[in-house]
Amino acid sequence: MAQQNLVVCSKCGGVNRLPPARSAKNAKCGKCGNRLFSGHPEDVNGRIFDDHITRSSIPVVVDIWAPWCGPCKMTAPAYETAANELEPDVCLIKLNSDNEQAVSARLGIRSIPTMILFHGGREVARTSGAMTAGQIVRWVRDHLPMATA
Ligand code: ZN
Repeated sequence: MAQQNLVVCSKCGGVNRLPPARSAKNAKCGKCGNRLFSGHPEDVNGRIFDDHITRSSIPVVVDIWAPWCGPCKMTAPAYETAANELEPDVCLIKLNSDNEQAVSARLGIRSIPTMILFHGGREVARTSGAMTAGQIVRWVRDHLPMATA
C-alpha cells in the first residue's frame, strides 16, 4: 500500500506529503523551499507549533528552552545530533518559552529544558533536564508508536 506521511514545514507551516522512506530526509517544502529535515531543528512560533502538532502524521518532538538557561544550551548540540539520527521518521522542533509564553503555559511547562513527544495531536511522553544525544534518541525511540518504528 502506498502510504504517505504528512510533514509540516517549520519555516512556513506548509503541509507536505512525503513517502515514508529515508530519501525523505532531503525533501524540501513545496511551498517555501526550506529543507524539511535540515538537521538543525527550527525555533517555531505558536502558530507553526500548533500546525506541527495537529497536522503532522509523523511523531513530533519539541524542545522547550530559553536563552538564559544553561542546561538548555548544553542540550542544543545534542538535540541537533539526535535530529540527524531520528529524522525523517520523526520531526524535531524547538520552542523558545520566553517568546511563546502562552504556548508554554498551555503545555504546563514547569522547568526547562523540557522535551515533549507528540503523535496524532496528543502528548505521548515528556521529560525534563539536560540529556546527551544518545539519551534523547533512546527516549524518543522508547516512546514511538509501533506503526512508525
Ligand atoms: Zn515551507
